This record gives sequence, structure tokens and C-alpha cells, in this order.
Amino acid sequence: MNQTEQRKIIIRELKNAKSHTTAEELFNNVKKFLPQISLGTIYRNLEILCSNGSVRKLSFEHRKAQFEWKNPAENFIHSYCPECGKIAHVSFSDSEKLQNLILEIYNETEADEIKLDLIKVCNCCKEAKAEQLIKAIEAENERKSKILTWNKDK
Ligand SMILES: [Zn+2]
Ligand SMILES: [Zn+2]
Repeated sequence: MNQTEQRKIIIRELKNAKSHTTAEELFNNVKKFLPQISLGTIYRNLEILCSNGSVRKLSFEHRKAQFEWKNPAENFIHSYCPECGKIAHVSFSDSEKLQNLILEIYNETEADEIKLDLIKVCNCCKEAKAEQLIKAIEAENERKSKILTWNKDK
């Protein structure tokens, strides 16, 4: 199979991926159709697709890079949870207004790309944290009441 055919399948699988995919996940999906493909080939193709602007690479902190097929009509920014690493889309209705505002701040009239990410602990992690806190308080109260009982008994 030639490189063009190979790339077609890689692109198809990128588009099929529900949202963000790591190179390894993409590799596992492509391998179903191209058993001979190597992870290196996947990386090389991703690099090319990123540099020609078809694919977006997302990398936050120490986490593995994730990739997604770019949709030119998209109206969202990415939000990243530093607790669990989840990357989600936050849609906004007036992207033009926001972009113009950013250009204005930088005293520019145009930009090839404006990158904007929202770093925020997601609701799941927030709830989990709140639950942990409640448990810790309960455990502390229980410990205190035990000491009280013990003191009374003495
Ligand atoms: Zn989270
Ligand atoms: Zn995305």
C-alpha cells in the first residue's frame, strides 16, 4: 500500500475518533486495517498533518499529547482538568468578537491562529474532592468524639 492510501486511512480514523486521541490509540485503530503499520509511521503522519494545519495537537502539562481533526467551522475552546487530565470542548457563540478583542489587545489586525485554553478542575473532580473533604471532616469528628468519651470514662 502506498503512502497516500495509508494516510487516507489514518485521516479516516482520526475523523472517526469521537474526540481526542493519543498517537497510541490512533495506532491501535489504524492497525485493524493496516496490520503492518508502525507507531513511527503514525507519528510521522501526525506531524505532517499538524504542520499543514489539518490536525490539532493538544498537550497539557506532563500528559500524553492528544490529536484531533480540525473542523474549520468549529466554535469552541478547550478546557483541561489538571486533576484527571480530561480535555473537553467549551462552545462559545461569538468567536469573532473574542478573536477581535484579542487582536486589539495585541495591537494586531490579523493572526494565523489564536490559541486559547481554559484550565479548570472539572465538575467530576470537584465533586470527588468535596466528598473527600466531607469524609475527612466526618472522620475527624468521630475521632474527637472518641477522645471525649474516653476522657469521660477516665
Ligand atoms: Zn477532572
Ligand atoms: Zn478538541
